[in-house]
Amino acid sequence: MRTVIDNQLPPAVAPLPLSGRATGPGADTAPGAIPGAVPDTAGPERVLLLTPGPLTTSDRTRAALNHDWGSRDARFIALTSRLRERLAAVAGGTGTHETVLLPGSGTFAVEAAIQSLVPRDGRALVLANGAYGRRMAEMLRRLGRAHDTMQWAEHEPVDPAALDRRLAAEPAVTDVLVVQCETTSGILNPVDEVASAVRRHGRRLMVDAMSAIGALPVAAARWNASAVMASSNKGLEGVPGIGFVVAERAHLAASAGVAASLSLDLHAQWDGFRRDGQWRFTPPVQVAAALDAALDQLDEEGGVPARHARYARNCRVLVDGMRALGFQTLLPDALQAPVIVTFRDPGPPFSFERFYDALQAQGIVIYPGKLTREPSFRIGCIGAIGAADLARAVRVAGDTLRR
Ligand SMILES: *Cc1c(COP(=O)(O)O)cnc(C)c1O
Repeated sequence: MRTVIDNQLPPAVAPLPLSGRATGPGADTAPGAIPGAVPDTAGPERVLLLTPGPLTTSDRTRAALNHDWGSRDARFIALTSRLRERLAAVAGGTGTHETVLLPGSGTFAVEAAIQSLVPRDGRALVLANGAYGRRMAEMLRRLGRAHDTMQWAEHEPVDPAALDRRLAAEPAVTDVLVVQCETTSGILNPVDEVASAVRRHGRRLMVDAMSAIGALPVAAARWNASAVMASSNKGLEGVPGIGFVVAERAHLAASAGVAASLSLDLHAQWDGFRRDGQWRFTPPVQVAAALDAALDQLDEEGGVPARHARYARNCRVLVDGMRALGFQTLLPDALQAPVIVTFRDPGPPFSFERFYDALQAQGIVIYPGKLTREPSFRIGCIGAIGAADLARAVRVAGDTLRR
């Protein structure tokens, strides 16, 4: 009788060149390939997701899904441990912080962090200039944690000087929450300055780095952050399914019993990882393997600086191209993170619905609706894509306008 052998290592997958490296080995060799694009065996069916999360992933990342892992097997435990170390490093928390992985989307990680790390008798202050900041305030409200919100318009970065004054006036605030790149608009918040103000006043800082991780420098230790929250499916270019929190070790260790939720209890999951290296509940095993493969590709590309440079080129091509077509960005370039760009809806005769459908007919998917309060639409520039992909998107956008 043959036994089924579980947990064989996946077959070696031929490495594919990364996008944005048009001069790299093997780049653009396929006939009809888009220069600078990621070659994809899916051919004409290749979908370009310009929606940051989920986003376009490489063939190699998707190939890593094609294996079943035993969740309690030594090889998966080793993979989990490797992931935790690699993610702490990408978040700038090696040696000071602990990665706690959770199944689910990024919101689960944010809610777990708030639930587990803001003390029950604490008082949080949320800096909000978009939907994700407001969502953290809503979580605090539902959890019954005392909190206040400082609000800015969606086209304005949060103001560290105003925060400084507020903290000076309010010694009761224990935890400050901020979003690094507010994906609502694509604005970059000045987390370095926010972190300095928080440190000066001796409070804790939690950073939602969901759309910043991989794309921008994230510095958990330098910021003295009690937690950085992120997920598998944005700038790390993994598939969706894992949220994680890179939590400052001493604060995490002191947070036993803080969470009211059983499944979103970060301390309990950290305990599990320390005890036997295992996830407490069914892990998304294939998603974890794909994230590990995606992190290999991040390293091979040259880490966050190289990825940031590719995304910045993507963003430049998108913004310049759309401006040449007559579109206006919501944000000035100085505030724009190279993650997602918000364009103002110019109104009739422009129809966003027709624009969306025309792009989709060419295999290009953007977000179908606005998130900002102003009439607008958003196009992402992150994922396993290169400048040529954005150039093609702009070309298709131009064609739709002429029709
Ligand atoms: C994507 C994102 C989240 C989480 O979104 P999910 O849909 O739950 O993955 C949270 N904050 C920011 C800033 C984001 O960009």
